Amino acid sequence: MNYHGVWIIAEADQGKIRDVSFELLTRGRKLADKLGTELTSVLIGNNINNNDVQEFIYRGADKVYVVNDPRLKYFIVENYSNVLENLINEYKPEIIIAGATTTGRTLMPYVAIKVNAGLTADCTELDIEEDTGNLLQTRPAIGGNILATIKTPENRPQMATVRPRSTKPAPKDKSRSGEIIIIELKTELVDGRVERIGFKQNEREDLNIQDADIVVAGGRGLKKKENFPLIRELAEHLGGVVGASRNAVDRGWISYPHQVGLSGKTVTPELYIAVGISGSIQHLAGMKTADTIIAINNDPDAPIFKVADFGIVGDLFEVIPILNERLANGD
Ligand code: FAD
Repeated sequence: MNYHGVWIIAEADQGKIRDVSFELLTRGRKLADKLGTELTSVLIGNNINNNDVQEFIYRGADKVYVVNDPRLKYFIVENYSNVLENLINEYKPEIIIAGATTTGRTLMPYVAIKVNAGLTADCTELDIEEDTGNLLQTRPAIGGNILATIKTPENRPQMATVRPRSTKPAPKDKSRSGEIIIIELKTELVDGRVERIGFKQNEREDLNIQDADIVVAGGRGLKKKENFPLIRELAEHLGGVVGASRNAVDRGWISYPHQVGLSGKTVTPELYIAVGISGSIQHLAGMKTADTIIAINNDPDAPIFKVADFGIVGDLFEVIPILNERLANGD
């Protein structure tokens, strides 16, 4: 099979590069180095500026393909998938990874079908198998109780999406150099049947706990909805946002956009405070990459303490009011 190179599918919103693109470079660089091949960023959009494109090189790409055209202003999957399919057929990459974002999860299945490739969604780990050079695509399976590693030995390209925030963005190294290739959009790739006529934000979805530096999350230990203001107050004092375990969400104490974990959001804040959360494997899947984790729980054997940097074994109804009072006094 004459396929080579690792591609990451970068994302931009109105010309501004999304952070997930730089996280993908961290993943992609590791794979390309193991294979001894080159790493390419593919960026499809409009209003993309040259300095931003250069940043891909500084952060690890050897090459960048840019398709920059007003007809690609909005993410319309028919158009974007046509463009990507065309690039794949022309340049034949061995591996393509994209973010498991709304865009990546919409785009990649379309493209996988078109190029007759396999696709593993929502990977938490990617690696290269030593003897074969195949991509090892690891993701939680069976309710998150096991990790399955999936291979695509027969078909190329091998395609996977990875959870945003599951790794750090690649650092900048201004001494790196690489090649930027501008590709004209071919008119026949624009699918005239689909047009964007407007955009309406879902009010419940406007909260993005993934962007917060500090998350204070509450679980079943809070006992009832009326107790959630305790951690809301703590989050406000710290300039953070409120997260929750699924148990708290399922009980209707807080809405789903706040849920952290396997079936909720993955967060990588500087500080994560878990209050009355036991630390199930499904919850840990969404927060264990936080820089610093503090757990408050009255059970010294709670699994959350295994991942916590600091732990307070105590009754949250005693601990949190003291913290809130101290913070209110500026202590
Ligand atoms: P519990 O496990 O009941 O823990 C409550 C904790 O509070 C206990 O450790 C207890 O010691 C402590 N506590 C009680 N009283 C006090 C007190 N007064 N002071 C201090 N501590 C106290 N879960 C998620 O969170 N996110 C997900 O995305 C998610 N996805 C899932 C997907 C699947 C397919 C499945 C099967 C499950 C999923 N779960 C998820 C559920 C998960 O398995 C757990 O049931 C859930 O995380 C438990 O929530 P909890 O920690 O709030 O509750």
